[in-house]
Amino acid sequence: MRLLFVTSEVAPLVKTGGLADVSAALPAALRDTGVDVHVLLPGYAQVLKALPPLQAVAGFADLPGFPEARLLAGALPNGVPLWVVDCPELYLRGGGPYQDEHGVDWIDNALRFGLLSKIAAVLGSADSPLDWKPDVVHCNDWQSALAPAYLHFANDAAPCVVTVHNLAFQGTFPPQAAASMGLPAECFQPEGVEFYGNLSFLKAGLYYADHITTVSPSYAEEIQTAALGFGLQGLLAHRRNVLTGILNGIDTEEWNPATDPDIAQTYDAGRLQAKSANKRELQKRMGLHPDPRVPLFGLVSRFTHQKGLDIVLEIAPQLIALPAQLVLLGSGDAEMQRTALELSHRYSGQVSAYVGFDEGLSHLIEAGADIFLMPSRFEPCGLNQMYSQRYGTPPVVHATGGLIDSVVDCNAASLKRGEASGFVFDSMDAIGLLTAAQRAVAAFHDEKVWRALQLNGMGRDFGWDKSATAYRDIYARLMLR
Ligand code: ADP
Repeated sequence: MRLLFVTSEVAPLVKTGGLADVSAALPAALRDTGVDVHVLLPGYAQVLKALPPLQAVAGFADLPGFPEARLLAGALPNGVPLWVVDCPELYLRGGGPYQDEHGVDWIDNALRFGLLSKIAAVLGSADSPLDWKPDVVHCNDWQSALAPAYLHFANDAAPCVVTVHNLAFQGTFPPQAAASMGLPAECFQPEGVEFYGNLSFLKAGLYYADHITTVSPSYAEEIQTAALGFGLQGLLAHRRNVLTGILNGIDTEEWNPATDPDIAQTYDAGRLQAKSANKRELQKRMGLHPDPRVPLFGLVSRFTHQKGLDIVLEIAPQLIALPAQLVLLGSGDAEMQRTALELSHRYSGQVSAYVGFDEGLSHLIEAGADIFLMPSRFEPCGLNQMYSQRYGTPPVVHATGGLIDSVVDCNAASLKRGEASGFVFDSMDAIGLLTAAQRAVAAFHDEKVWRALQLNGMGRDFGWDKSATAYRDIYARLMLR
């Protein structure tokens, strides 16, 4: 089985979010099951800089509407074969993959990701200059979602999958962009790439893909509703028979409390008492009172409305009155950052916030906190709730998307079944979150219940194997058609 995996970011070469992690881990997991997978990525300056000099294996001189480009061959740090689209005019510049250094979208993003999509489609069709022809083309998010449209009009085209990692970003451009990138006029209509008068890359992908996936089963249902469909709910509902939710895995080597170099003391399910050294260290590092008995809540997140941070900040005074302590790590919304810092001054010793990005501290929070907070309003998959279960730190989560699919609410029945692993609440407001936090604190003070919750979470399998098999099954079905 030959797979072309098309993505606009891959860790550790270029990363702005979870897509980069998936684009490194999923192809590696597929390779381990015997799939012949190649990753296709734009040749941003930071990518070319991070890799040894690469050899050109093909050239594209006359793609209508695009500058000349080449295909360079290399490998990801995990050994998966990599093809880099080399087009200095579009990719060789400072700033990030989607925006300049001031956070403004690159003005030629349609062309930049149109080219990525176009080359993916050429490689997946009879026009490919390579001998290696994929059985399936797998596109990710809007940046490569125009490929299915190109494939639709190509000769001998491979079937294609589009995965939605976040429906909020759709790649919408003025209508002229479609014709200028060589798309036939006939596809600029509602049954095609058009979306409310504009060209939408994601809409194009969702319309033309042979299969659509998203990163959790619950999110797959939710995006078919007006509440979370971002205007695409009608199309997604229409295509629900080819829409599958597959929960992301996590990197179980990087996130392993038994070997984690970023924590004060390593531990595992058989040595859970060693976890307390991490709480001590976290309290010390964050200036909290060194009290082992008071439950410590931890949060690592972008500071945004999506993540429900406004509600965490709102209930902080009631939370610490339980009593409890609270550690916050993250950055984002300026007002939320200010409030978090204000709270840590006002409630010094009980609340502590670090505004910024700190990978090492995020590991220590997972290990040192007693309870993890993740009250996202919506969450396609989410990673921290899986990390925290693996670290024996039961999470409190809102009942949405990947959070529902990865956390089992603690109640008499789920405890009895040996499945309870956290606290799930329905009502997305201060009372809903506070009530769940109170339930968590009550459980924390019941040693037997708490130990059961920790061990249930630590025993769960969050690796990539199951998900990789689910993707493979989809590819195999497409190949039969
Ligand atoms: P999203 O991709 O929506 O931001 P996820 O939970 O899927 O949310 O993944 C976020 C990732 O980024 C996690 O690995 C999390 O630990 C990490 N992260 C977020 N903010 C910070 C931060 N300030 N410092 C360190 N790591 C962070």
